[in-house]
Amino acid sequence: MKKYVVYTIVAAMILSLVSCGESGSRTAAAAKDATPKDAAATGSSALAASLAATELAASPNGDYSTMGTLAEESPVIDGIYTAPVEYKADEGKYYLTDLKRRFRVGNFNGKTSKDENFKPVYSAGNSIFGDTEEEADQELYKGFYLTTEIGKIRDYFLKSFGVDTQGHTLFIGYNDGKEDGKNAYGGVGEDKTYSTIYVGKNVSFPCRDILAHEYTHTIQYMHHFVQDVNEKGSEVKIDEETVTISEGLADVFACFYTGKWDLDFTPLGNGVAHRNAANPSGNHKANIHDEVKSSEKEYGYNYATCISRAAYLMSESKAFTKEALQSLWFDAMVSLTAHCKYTDLREAMEKAAIRAKMTGKQKLALANAFDAVGISHFDTAAKYNGDIEVAIYDHENNFYDDYKVEIYRLIKDSRDNGATWNYTTTFVESHDRNKPEPLQLHLDEGTYRILISDNSPGQKIVDYTIAVDPASGKRLIEERNFDVPDSEDAGPGDSDGEAEPEDSGDSDGEAEPEDSGDSDDAAEPEDSGDEAAGPGDSQGESEEDGGDGESSDGFQGLWITFSSMGTLYYFDGGKVTCYSKTDYSAPVSDRHYTKKWTRNYIVEDLSGADGPGRAAVLESGIEYRLIDGSPDVLDCYFLDENNRYQLSGSGSLMRVTDYTIDDLILQ
Ligand SMILES: [Zn+2]
Repeated sequence: MKKYVVYTIVAAMILSLVSCGESGSRTAAAAKDATPKDAAATGSSALAASLAATELAASPNGDYSTMGTLAEESPVIDGIYTAPVEYKADEGKYYLTDLKRRFRVGNFNGKTSKDENFKPVYSAGNSIFGDTEEEADQELYKGFYLTTEIGKIRDYFLKSFGVDTQGHTLFIGYNDGKEDGKNAYGGVGEDKTYSTIYVGKNVSFPCRDILAHEYTHTIQYMHHFVQDVNEKGSEVKIDEETVTISEGLADVFACFYTGKWDLDFTPLGNGVAHRNAANPSGNHKANIHDEVKSSEKEYGYNYATCISRAAYLMSESKAFTKEALQSLWFDAMVSLTAHCKYTDLREAMEKAAIRAKMTGKQKLALANAFDAVGISHFDTAAKYNGDIEVAIYDHENNFYDDYKVEIYRLIKDSRDNGATWNYTTTFVESHDRNKPEPLQLHLDEGTYRILISDNSPGQKIVDYTIAVDPASGKRLIEERNFDVPDSEDAGPGDSDGEAEPEDSGDSDGEAEPEDSGDSDDAAEPEDSGDEAAGPGDSQGESEEDGGDGESSDGFQGLWITFSSMGTLYYFDGGKVTCYSKTDYSAPVSDRHYTKKWTRNYIVEDLSGADGPGRAAVLESGIEYRLIDGSPDVLDCYFLDENNRYQLSGSGSLMRVTDYTIDDLILQ
């Protein structure tokens, strides 16, 4: 092997790192770095003692491919610290290198962590590190400790989630002089061909919590989502919510790895103390994402605790096994993208829960935890101007004239023990409509829930959560197909309306439109031209459900939406009933639901790109598609004005298995 081959690799490094400390007060955290000779004098088997005669367990015969007997379990034996090495025969040197895990270890000697300053840790002539003065000057115990501890962290991620550095080398550097040597970093090279963990020269050892945090950053980088977050001090504008999520998730996995919620960052030496997911405010960190902290500069670190607190609350719910909880967070983390926001994290968690086929109880625990830290769907309500026009049409596109509009104000108010948001729902006004024209509303700034319900019994109800913001230009709430299809009266005379098309999107009925952005994913033009029969024909022509209500059409049972925990659907042999809970101040686990309507559906087979599976087709033009490979998720589609099916982004339903319709307390 060529001399300086390691240097050659390192010289190719272009660093892109995340800073993981905080620039706090410069209290000197003098890491009393004992020299190897000092340690030898102590003779104990503690970490420092391992400096003494540091003997590597590599085979001494010069086989550089040998990993050594190493060090997975007990790196310190009788004061002898063992670690994997690579022997380079042409140099006659042993390098502190873990070929199996692809770690290379270097010392920056107090210089800034630039490529050319990375000096691989070595022993010349024999496998005893530190038996010459020159070797001892490398502060070997730091390299050995990092190799061992990061090795365990890497093994944890590999065993738990099946990932490591994905075939790349992880460069582990210590005695970094950057930021007065009081910080630690985890990242990757710019082209993502290698990973890095660098520890400052004034960071004190051991520093396990910090290393687990930094290793998580390397995973994040390899999986993309923080690659646009730049090194501290960079000119590039940092997206603070993304930083917070990145830092929060690094803390979450440090908690998972160490098995404790209170992370100790004091070894950084830069004034950072603890971040405790169980009690963030005890260390002056945020319990809830919108608590304003003193230093905007340290936004990401101060708010990171609201992310780890959500993990803590989920754990406390006892709804998850340890493995399930950790897998859920990992799955969500690696599905995030650059510039992600708090709500993206919640959505990623919800989707991960669906993929993991989690139960309704688990999904509720997830929702509760995120609501408690203020990452709520309420906070992402679509913005509307205070002057709102509600335009309701029948299936012939005439204005509809028999519906009610109820408006509730949502106020995010008190917190339980300072840690959990509550919402108060206050009735504002109600409009009974019997005129075929749009309703004009004026609402003050705030967040509202708007319920629009057909006065014909058992018919459509639509449920909006909106934020009134005078700066918004959005004015129109528009709903179609708001009538009973078989009462054919009006001709196609289409009294149209001035209704601007500005906010198409959620014209679906059952699905909560509260988080707008629906009409994505253009659906196929499969167009069901057939005027789906009237309410009489619950039998449908589907083979499966030949009569008995308990048939196995796959839809049978309770379903719930994520976007609004206030709505449940019960499918039962050709009938679907919607139950709603209008009291948002009640906890989401409260089962007081009111029956809103019942409608018939027929089952049609799905094939082609969608299938195999089935669709429950409602006469309103809405259909719920159930794919065989994903039996616990119903995707809601609605017919748009061009008679094409569109996926309703907020309308997916998840099967509830924890309780049945009989458990609902109906009012
Ligand atoms: Zn960090």
